[in-house]
Amino acid sequence: MTVGIIGLGLIGGSMAKDIRRNSFADKIIGYNRSKENCEKALEIGLIDEIATFEQVCSESDLIILGVPVNAIQKVLPKVLDSISDKAVVTDAGSTKELLIKEVENHKNRKRYVPSHPMSGTENSGPTSALDNLFKDKVAIICNKEESDKDAVDLVVRFYEMLGSRIIYMNARDHDEHVGYVSHLTHVISYALANAVLDKEKSTSTIFDLAAGGFASTSRLAKSSADMWVPIFEQNTQNILPILDVYMDKLKEFKTHLENNDMDKLYEFISEANKIRKVLKS
Ligand code: NAD
Repeated sequence: MTVGIIGLGLIGGSMAKDIRRNSFADKIIGYNRSKENCEKALEIGLIDEIATFEQVCSESDLIILGVPVNAIQKVLPKVLDSISDKAVVTDAGSTKELLIKEVENHKNRKRYVPSHPMSGTENSGPTSALDNLFKDKVAIICNKEESDKDAVDLVVRFYEMLGSRIIYMNARDHDEHVGYVSHLTHVISYALANAVLDKEKSTSTIFDLAAGGFASTSRLAKSSADMWVPIFEQNTQNILPILDVYMDKLKEFKTHLENNDMDKLYEFISEANKIRKVLKS
């Protein structure tokens, strides 16, 4: 089998590493808009050959889209225009509803299996690719019934090879849930980083004082705007009400402090502590 990857960054590159290590494909070909990333991906052995966009579409049995979601929106219809009847297309995009809508009436819609691996880091580009990035993590497949069974089976086999646990969801629920657990987390991290950068003008003070809590909560603020602005744009309708919920919680905390109501503050934190049990299970 030939696997073709469009977008040779963190996600596409990490998938390539596991495909090779687990001999999932006979050949891995790749296309990336920037020539530099193509060459780097070849040099570090992520792919066997650099291909054109057209070659990836015509020569691959499985095509993986690892580009930012605004780019997926543009390239997905073109990929479906030019694949063979048997080829399967999946994507790693962090949003799903709009991408699916984009191709809902496409003649090859059933060859597309929308997916989202729930694993990543704050780094980007081919050199950030990691082995086993998806092992013991969840992969979400959306609107399964709208794809051909053999196409879903191949994508399931692919994620199982990566070591992921598969969850099926409809795209609308997916976008709302990831709005809470992934997109909101990034908003908080960007806002925290900007709040600290605004107040602490001296980067050396931040560096000297940054303890574990700050470092872990601001880690996601290193994630690139190229990837995240399109995600926020495509998921605005879910993120806005989620931000209202979050800001209400911040206001609640502030009110308890203003009222010097330590009992209420104690209750607030004890309630939040329940997340330990939820995450453990
Ligand atoms: P990345 O920035 O590391 O890689 C994206 C690559 O796509 C880059 O090499 C870029 O040059 C290339 N590219 C951009 N537009 C292109 C186009 N039109 N044609 C060809 N190549 C193009 O990003 P990533 O972290 O690998 O994310 C890829 C996808 O995976 C995104 O859709 C993202 O939403 C999703 N995702 C990311 C994470 C994460 O934590 N990073 C987790 C799960 C899913």
